[in-house]
Amino acid sequence: MSVREVDVAVVGAGPGGLYAATYVGLRGLGALVLDILPAPGGQITALYPEKRIHDVAGFRAVRGRELVERCTEQAEAAGAELQLSTRAERLTRTADGFVVGTADRGEVRCRAVIVAAGLGTFTPRRLPDAERFEGRGVCYVIRDPEAFRDEHLVIVGGGDAAVDWALELEHLAASVTLVHRRDRFRAHEGRVEALLSSSVDVMTEAEVVHLHGDGQLAGAEVLHKPSGEHREVAATRLYAALGFHADLGPVAEWGIGVEGRVVAVDRCMRTEVAGVFAAGDITDYAGKLKLISAAFGEAVIAANHAANHVDPELRVFPGYG
Ligand SMILES: Cc1cc2nc3c(=O)[nH]c(=O)nc-3n(C[C@H](O)[C@H](O)[C@H](O)COP(=O)(O)OP(=O)(O)OC[C@H]3O[C@@H](n4cnc5c(N)ncnc54)[C@H](O)[C@@H]3O)c2cc1C
Repeated sequence: MSVREVDVAVVGAGPGGLYAATYVGLRGLGALVLDILPAPGGQITALYPEKRIHDVAGFRAVRGRELVERCTEQAEAAGAELQLSTRAERLTRTADGFVVGTADRGEVRCRAVIVAAGLGTFTPRRLPDAERFEGRGVCYVIRDPEAFRDEHLVIVGGGDAAVDWALELEHLAASVTLVHRRDRFRAHEGRVEALLSSSVDVMTEAEVVHLHGDGQLAGAEVLHKPSGEHREVAATRLYAALGFHADLGPVAEWGIGVEGRVVAVDRCMRTEVAGVFAAGDITDYAGKLKLISAAFGEAVIAANHAANHVDPELRVFPGYG
């Protein structure tokens, strides 16, 4: 069994974990980042690699894929190492730190742990009765916007992903119809305003009730719930952005204070176990926002406190000016 020794083990290579590892490296310590997935980037890589992100500092807009590439490059340049396709299964205390046990890739001995496991594993929620068109017009993740060129696209959902993609594909697709079951959106107000003044056909309080086509998707029947009216919509592509099922997996059993799918942290991003810190979507505190920018800020705090935990000679605040 392989045994790795490192100053700080980071669980999760999403934006939170990657930036935590960067900062651990900047503090002169070694970081090893473990992730179940075969590629870094967490939710960004798995669910929206081609979406433009509009709310990360320093970019007017940046594609998910590009942001992940830059975060990974930055972490590696700071000396962090990534071990992908590796699930962190167990966390055990030792006399001078921790052992993180993996499923089949040995164990990692470390002085501190930063848990940046986000939502754990996630799978998109399926659109009822759409299975026969999966890969034949229906998709849950957009990997190549060009696949929508000159197609009649129906987007189902009312969150940021649905709204952002409707706006982005408005001029690439032959037509874009957005179907949302409520009358209010769960997206940034500015983006919703842009959507409502765009050429996208927005159908609220509506549901896709039937898909049809001979092998390949050709059309969708949409029910407007308040009136009970059915409308036939041209649909050669359908992107369902209905959220996803998440499962935190083994991290929930590590005895670090996980409640439901989150772990309470203090202002130093400490969990209830000394030496175990957390950052990103997994953390919970008053005022928490599940955003990339918030994950970056928490990662910096967690990494600097972890550095001080590993070596008390290292001040928490590296200090500038
Ligand atoms: C469709 C969609 C669009 C979004 N758009 C935006 C946006 O425009 N702007 C914005 O700020 N935010 C957006 N978000 C939210 C943003 O993606 C999250 O806030 C961010 O990804 C959180 O980063 P994280 O590093 O905490 O977790 P994650 O990105 O979830 O990464 C956690 C990683 O930990 C790994 N992991 C979990 N458990 C283990 C384990 N036991 N062992 C090893 N690895 C493990 C997972 O495989 C995953 O790779 C969006 C989210 C979605 C779903």
